[in-house]
Amino acid sequence: MSSLGFQSIYRQLNAAGIGTHRAFLPDAWEPLALRWPQERRPILTYEAERPLSSYPVIGLSIAYELEIAGVIRLLEGSGIPLLASARGPRDPIIVGGGPLTFSNPNAALPFVDLLLVGEAEERLPQVLDRLGGAGDRRQRIEAAAELEGVIVGEIDPGRWEPLPEPLRAPKELLPAASAILSPDTELADMFLVEPERGCSRRCTFCVMRGGTSAGGMRILPKERPLALIPEEAKRVGLVGAAVTDLPHLEELVADLVDSGRGVAISSLRADRLTPRFLRDLQRGGYRTITVASDGISERMRLALDRKIHEEDLLRAATLIREHGFHKMKIYEMIGAPGETDADVDELIRFAREIAGIQRLTLTFSTFVAKRNTPLDGQPFLGVKEAEERLRRIREGLAGKVELRPQSPRWAHIEYLLALWGPEAGHAAIQAVHAGGRYADWVRAFAETPHEPRALRHGDEATWARRRGKAAERRQLPVIADA
Ligand code: SF4
Repeated sequence: MSSLGFQSIYRQLNAAGIGTHRAFLPDAWEPLALRWPQERRPILTYEAERPLSSYPVIGLSIAYELEIAGVIRLLEGSGIPLLASARGPRDPIIVGGGPLTFSNPNAALPFVDLLLVGEAEERLPQVLDRLGGAGDRRQRIEAAAELEGVIVGEIDPGRWEPLPEPLRAPKELLPAASAILSPDTELADMFLVEPERGCSRRCTFCVMRGGTSAGGMRILPKERPLALIPEEAKRVGLVGAAVTDLPHLEELVADLVDSGRGVAISSLRADRLTPRFLRDLQRGGYRTITVASDGISERMRLALDRKIHEEDLLRAATLIREHGFHKMKIYEMIGAPGETDADVDELIRFAREIAGIQRLTLTFSTFVAKRNTPLDGQPFLGVKEAEERLRRIREGLAGKVELRPQSPRWAHIEYLLALWGPEAGHAAIQAVHAGGRYADWVRAFAETPHEPRALRHGDEATWARRRGKAAERRQLPVIADA
């Protein structure tokens, strides 16, 4: 319910008179490691309390690689044949989509009858139209797969179609906005709306980067999102890859706060914080300001084209303190190509400096190379190496900075799912059936034969790696001097 894409499609299909109900993976089946099979249960839709398996078409929104385990549990647990190739004429047609399709959704192909790649607003109604047309189940699936951006899943064992370029929705179908406000969700009672879509920057690790079919920033006039906010919404979440790059963001936030509403923003850039903006964020209920650094040193940020500098983060920390915020939080990413111990040392030194200005929390993910980025195909740091890097950081910042690392083990599994082709879906079945622990996944991948996936953006990857190396060379003397 906190996924804007999911809510937006729900709103759109209901408004078009197609009729759409919601169903969710039961909370009890969500943990990454879980003895499986659990007892089967009918998964009922919220609106009609009908079993999921009784619907003619089921749309799955998959956010990222590790959610494949949830797809397996949802389908098996609700009694729908897990593999697309095993479904018969009376089984629901499963249409996969969601944010994962911007990078590598290959692992979903064994489970979906159709995959819609990219932004679904324009294409999904056309897909549903064809699925409701003449012919048997197979013919209707194949008719829908003729549409650009749509392919069949593994409906014939071992036959996989290449992934198309992600679709872009026309601007007139934007913005996405919440359909339902609920107190019982992650972002309780918050009305979500996008004041822009996409990003025009070029961070080399990011699937939303500009210059790809997924990227580029589409800015909407301030009035468009404002007009959609219902009277009863007391909190508004502004969602988008690069909301703080909006030229009119300060006015938009001021308008929302002046109307007595709370406000939240999905991402803040350290170099875009201003005194007026911070004052309004505080009036809008902010207590912690979170910004991203990603690269853990100046050299790594430069190599990743992140375009955030030490002075931006220091200036942000000072402003955040001056405006009386409770805490500053910075997202960091360890293990990007070329990172060394010198970068870790710099992070420790710099985090101590920031913590001297403002109470600080650092969150850590481990770099996972993604399709449709120049870093596609780059290696994973390794679980032991990542844990050792985190250990050094913990030691260096003990008592000074709160640290919230995500597990490098799950980043490793995410990496394998992101790197492999559709065989990864079959490895995932084995891993889920074995209980879904880290060791189960590693074993499943080791025992599943696979073809290395061709890099579709190989030229771009080579170019960016060269450029990344050039950036590294440019910056190394600076590190040495420091
Ligand atoms: S990391 Fe953020 S700023 Fe960089 S390309 Fe992605 S969305 Fe844009």
